[in-house]
Amino acid sequence: QAKADGRNVYRFYHDELNKASIDKFNLLQLMRKALKNNEFQLYYQPKLQLSDQRVIGAEALLRWPQADGSMISPDEFIPLAESSGLIVEIGQWVLQQACLACSRWQQQGYDLTIAVNLSTVQFRDGKLEQQVQQALTAAALPAHSLEMELTESLLIGEGDNIAQQLSALHQLGIRISIDDFGTGYSNLGYLRRFNASRLKIDKSFILSLCLSERDEPLVRAIIQMSKSLGLKTVAEGIEDSATAAQLALLGCDEGQGFYWAKPLPETDFLGYVSAELMNEARTTKPD
Ligand code: C2E
Ligand code: MG
Ligand code: MG
Ligand code: MG
Repeated sequence: QAKADGRNVYRFYHDELNKASIDKFNLLQLMRKALKNNEFQLYYQPKLQLSDQRVIGAEALLRWPQADGSMISPDEFIPLAESSGLIVEIGQWVLQQACLACSRWQQQGYDLTIAVNLSTVQFRDGKLEQQVQQALTAAALPAHSLEMELTESLLIGEGDNIAQQLSALHQLGIRISIDDFGTGYSNLGYLRRFNASRLKIDKSFILSLCLSERDEPLVRAIIQMSKSLGLKTVAEGIEDSATAAQLALLGCDEGQGFYWAKPLPETDFLGYVSAELMNEARTTKPD
């Protein structure tokens, strides 16, 4: 009896493992196909200047729509794209599309910047600078309109190779942000080493800023430190007006979050931006 049970347990794990690796294989095949068929989309989340809540740009976020109308979240497919190396091609597509979109907005008269998320895997073949240059040229977008977000935890243990490439990008005029700050080692040396000019506080500290007494001193300290290093501070995950007001009071420069808007398809993003501008014009019009 015990023997039979043991075998069943074994078979169960065996089947589950098999299923997991087949799923990964399928997912990778599906991602390749999606890239080839242009199925990926970029959504844009407004970024605002906290002092006056003016829209200053957007973060481009990758979306993978499914046939049934659902969406696979980037948190579910980016890790496999990174471990398989496919992120290099996906990332290039993201860069190209994001630069083109931002250039369209600027041509329509909107003074906006675009931030793109980068994986450290994209630095491995040493061709990133060239790809960035190409994307900027093809879109006729000035380098200073492009911002690159690199997750703190991905930079841990990364060496001179990435630092050198980031330095070259920085020389071009591209802005570099350390994303999800506070979740890794929060090593201050990273900020200098990777030429960062912006520090993005992770949303896990912002979501509960007005609820948890533990978060306020931490966020305050990050903003103070960032300021004394001459960096701009950005907060992600702002979901209500109280948090926006609190962050502005603490001296945080920029923010994004569901309070203003979720990541939106380009048309909706532009709708949001033009409505905000109209609002602004109304409230600042002299009587
Ligand atoms: P991230 O770069 O830290 O992006 C911010 C995430 O926070 C986004 O999740 C956004 O939808 C979410 N967010 C923004 N405001 C709020 C808010 O007020 N409340 C809450 N609860 N969430 C908010 P998303 O779009 O699911 O992306 C997840 C992560 O996937 C990103 O985190 C980024 O690390 C990665 N990612 C997305 N697009 C790309 C891409 O093109 N390339 C790479 N390498 N990674 C990407
Ligand atoms: Mg980001
Ligand atoms: Mg982040
Ligand atoms: Mg993140």
